[in-house]
Amino acid sequence: MSTSTDTGTLRIITAEDEHLAHNYHPLPVVIARGEGAWVTDVEGKRYLDLLSAYSALNFGHGHPAILAAAQEQLGRLTLTSRAYHNDRLGPFAAALAELCGKDLVLPMNTGAEAVETGIKVARAWAYRIKGVAADAAKIVVANGNFHGRTTTIVGFSDDPVAYEGFGPYAPGFVHVPFGDAAAIEAAIDENTAAVLIEPIQGEAGVIIPPEGYLRAVRELCTARGVLFIADEIQSGLGRVGTTFACDREGVVPDVYLLGKALGGGILPLSAVVADRDVLGVIRPGEHGSTFGGNPLAAAVGLQVVEMLASGEFQTRAAALGEHLAERLDALVGHGVTAVRVAGLWAGVDIDPAVGTGREVAERMLARGVLVKDTHGQTIRLAPPLVVRGTELDWAVEQLRHVLAA
Ligand SMILES: *Cc1c(COP(=O)(O)O)cnc(C)c1O
Repeated sequence: MSTSTDTGTLRIITAEDEHLAHNYHPLPVVIARGEGAWVTDVEGKRYLDLLSAYSALNFGHGHPAILAAAQEQLGRLTLTSRAYHNDRLGPFAAALAELCGKDLVLPMNTGAEAVETGIKVARAWAYRIKGVAADAAKIVVANGNFHGRTTTIVGFSDDPVAYEGFGPYAPGFVHVPFGDAAAIEAAIDENTAAVLIEPIQGEAGVIIPPEGYLRAVRELCTARGVLFIADEIQSGLGRVGTTFACDREGVVPDVYLLGKALGGGILPLSAVVADRDVLGVIRPGEHGSTFGGNPLAAAVGLQVVEMLASGEFQTRAAALGEHLAERLDALVGHGVTAVRVAGLWAGVDIDPAVGTGREVAERMLARGVLVKDTHGQTIRLAPPLVVRGTELDWAVEQLRHVLAA
């Protein structure tokens, strides 16, 4: 933790400790600037950012086109509320609906709000379209899920750190093992409104389900009259080398939940995207958000969608991901017990003999690379999609040194 011994950094961290709730345990680095895949701390030391704010920075820090869209809109109009129309929301919704191949968009702010909205939509659909009895709707979720931090959402987490001590929790959720389609089939009954899964579990450590799982979930949901809700908040928008992680199996869910990178790394922007027969169940006044769909976020989101529409970021993530996978695979047996890679997204399990994920992240920090541990022994890599192959090589070289030390 050599960086925290410097007085400037230490002073800032100490001041934070005095006044900031301890709901995070950040690495001891104080970032002051960012550009592309790189950030600079208050002492002027540079770091390669291999976390990208958990994929919210898919296009890197300060992408010029996204910054320009935001700056242009900042000077014109930032907030109207949905009490009125604004001239940016329609174009954003149209572009996002087209990217998803769906009819309708419901804009919110954070990922957790998109998940909450998806739950409301699924229940309303169950009661109004499917004919489920009042308050009987059930949603099937996967073990190891991460869908956000609201009380309803942590209530169906099976991670004690996320849920313990915050009950009572909302009923209506059924757990099945992740990656097991037969378990979903067995869990579905006449009251099931939806299956809600991450196509690849991010927070759990980039857990990739067996090939064919998403297709099986799609077929099951269609056959049993249940909505397939894909939480693509972290996996979507280019991260895995395709627009959505569901594309890896050529699968289209009934409902996309989007967030993180949708806001271009500038502001929170999330959305629920679905066809009219699903999202059309919500009526005026039943759902909303003061900031959801604000013109500044819509202008940024429109720019993000336009950048994804060209496919260049997806192609880049796929090619760089293959490159990264080769380099990381070579570490297995050398301080790494397993590697899982999907596009430019990797979970690297650290051999306990080397140290914890946190310790590896701290040693990487000292070498100028930012990574974050998850669940003890895993580090997650999610570089900005603008990163260069040579920068990835350099970062893996640093990891090799850390593992060997
Ligand atoms: C981050 C995340 C969320 C929650 O998003 P917030 O913007 O932090 O509320 C939900 N689902 C998944 C899969 C995520 O990775």
